[in-house]
Amino acid sequence: MNLKKNRISPMKTSMDQITALCKRRGFIYPGSEIYGGFANTYTYGPYGSLLKKNVKDLWWNMFVENRDDMVGIDGDIFLHPKTWEASGHVGGFNDQLIDCKNCKARLRADHLVEEALGEDCEGKPDEEVTKIIQENKIKCPKCGKQDFTDVRKFNQMFKTPLSKTGDDGHVYLRPETAQAIFLEFKNVIDSCRVRIPFGIAQIGKAFRNEITPGNFIFRQLEFEQMEIEYFITPPAGFTEKREAWMGKPHLDDWPDEAQDYMNQIFSAWEKAMFDWCDLIGLDRKKCHVVEHSAEKLSHYSKRTFDIEFDFPFGQKELYGCAYRTDFDLNQHEKFSGKKLKYRDPQTNEEYIPHVIEPTFGLGRSLLAILTSAYAEETLEDGSQRTVLRLKPKIAPVKIALLPLMKKDGLPELAREIQKQLKIFGYTEYDESGAIGKRYRRQDEIGTPVCITIDYESKDDNAVTIRDRDTMTQERIKISELIDYLKERYFS
Ligand code: ATP
Repeated sequence: MNLKKNRISPMKTSMDQITALCKRRGFIYPGSEIYGGFANTYTYGPYGSLLKKNVKDLWWNMFVENRDDMVGIDGDIFLHPKTWEASGHVGGFNDQLIDCKNCKARLRADHLVEEALGEDCEGKPDEEVTKIIQENKIKCPKCGKQDFTDVRKFNQMFKTPLSKTGDDGHVYLRPETAQAIFLEFKNVIDSCRVRIPFGIAQIGKAFRNEITPGNFIFRQLEFEQMEIEYFITPPAGFTEKREAWMGKPHLDDWPDEAQDYMNQIFSAWEKAMFDWCDLIGLDRKKCHVVEHSAEKLSHYSKRTFDIEFDFPFGQKELYGCAYRTDFDLNQHEKFSGKKLKYRDPQTNEEYIPHVIEPTFGLGRSLLAILTSAYAEETLEDGSQRTVLRLKPKIAPVKIALLPLMKKDGLPELAREIQKQLKIFGYTEYDESGAIGKRYRRQDEIGTPVCITIDYESKDDNAVTIRDRDTMTQERIKISELIDYLKERYFS
């Protein structure tokens, strides 16, 4: 059976299509379903957890193992509570909250304005956002009334008691993985042979008390980040003029030479981030670089760009890249009283390194991957198939072994071949149902190759390879299988 047209069904992929496939095919289930569900929590099922693991492994491989200027750590979720005072999160990690007095809906004020007016007001003062909402007579999207409280700040950190003695000790669940990296900066330079410029990477969970979580795994309270803090020498002139430069809102306000130096580093990271997008098969037409205006910058940043992606619910942040200056290490030096300077082995010069931070949300990566890979296609006979065109490197199942019949030695031969092909990763054996249906199932979970073992296989020592994307079939000798698969799919 061939494809009539090698194209995604004309309508845009919807969130309903993606969430339905995820549930139906064991990628992502709504959390705690047997208790009636628990809003905004999800479980990665057998295929989802494989996909997630493959993406993490690929990221680690690209950004840590394949580079000479990177090392990794795996820090705790609980960090010393002072960390978050130093980093500015206790005072400044806030969203703008607004309540509807009529229906009691709690909303993020900047999202309310964006949805009503298409205007980005993130970073504007609370009073100004309150005024925008009032002057534009914006209505509550839940009840339609226009009866809001004023906009106020809402800290996004989860605080939990840490008390074995009944005192009021507490810890925060980390809202970003970055801080564990800053806390271990000194240990890393003291214990490893790293030289600036170099980066420390980490993959791990972060927690944020989002006012309006939603859109499936796009915005959750608990999520995973893949982050890099990349340490560089400060731009020339910074150390002497630190106070004046840090007082300026944006890198654009610094001298040209400093801007050129930093923007070159930004360009290299932008390229690396797009190489990553290609590696995981994101649709490049759906990726957009968006610069933050000075007023939108986080308290620690002098320049940030986001890579936004056209998700089915709109163009939203997928990844970010921020210039955190020496802000974090400087703050931790002040709050901890420990020296966090780096001594250049050649010049003997001592300084607090500057940091550029490329950050990648894992859940959002998966959603962008699924959005890019999902297709519904019409075949020659008019029937439909759903297919996930996942890159073989991240596909949960690499190869499916399908004996044509459940008897006459075909299962044994299929199992024998399967054993040899385990070198490519997770494989699946499936002997039940019509072969067409088995292909469709593998298409839906994104398996790049199906191998059919039939009666002739025992005579000619060959099998049929069926390609997921083209649906073409080829007869290959069993003895040549590994080389063939390596070259075509898994190099
Ligand atoms: P947003 O503006 O969408 O709230 P953010 O700018 O606060 O995101 P960052 O602080 O830059 O996000 O976090 C780094 C990355 O972590 C984001 O680019 C995104 O991929 C991911 N991320 C942030 N918040 C969430 C969340 N609540 N759920 C899932 N992923 C998230």
